[in-house]
Amino acid sequence: MSTERNADCVFCKIIAGEVPSTKLYEDDWVYAFKDIHPQAPFHALVVPKRHLSTLNDFADEDVELAGRLMLTGKRLAAEHKLPGYRVAMNINREGGQVVFHAHLHVLGGRQMKGQLG
Ligand code: 5GP
Ligand code: ZN
Repeated sequence: MSTERNADCVFCKIIAGEVPSTKLYEDDWVYAFKDIHPQAPFHALVVPKRHLSTLNDFADEDVELAGRLMLTGKRLAAEHKLPGYRVAMNINREGGQVVFHAHLHVLGGRQMKGQLG
């Protein structure tokens, strides 16, 4: 589940540049790009460069990676001057996950509603 790369994974292909994306940020740990079907004027996805299917595949040793995902969300919001924003992660089908390479949604640019889902 937590191999470096999954041959069938669209986000692994995006990270490798084999599927096009609009890159917003990249470092040794994470890659961030625009969501192809934005649910807000600003909708980014932040993914670990290493293939981890869901948050459930993060081990205790991945605590820094988990933090970097969150802080990349903060960085993107600052760069795009979002006065408020939402970060969210869907886990498993029951949690609304469709793409099984863990990703943080960063949404903003409109008034976010108080309720989720
Ligand atoms: P999930 O429901 O798994 O949390 O969210 C998956 C997200 O990935 C969706 O918002 C969807 O629009 C986005 N997405 C799926 N395939 C692609 C793609 O090929 N490129 C980009 N940029 N976004 C994608
Ligand atoms: Zn992947």
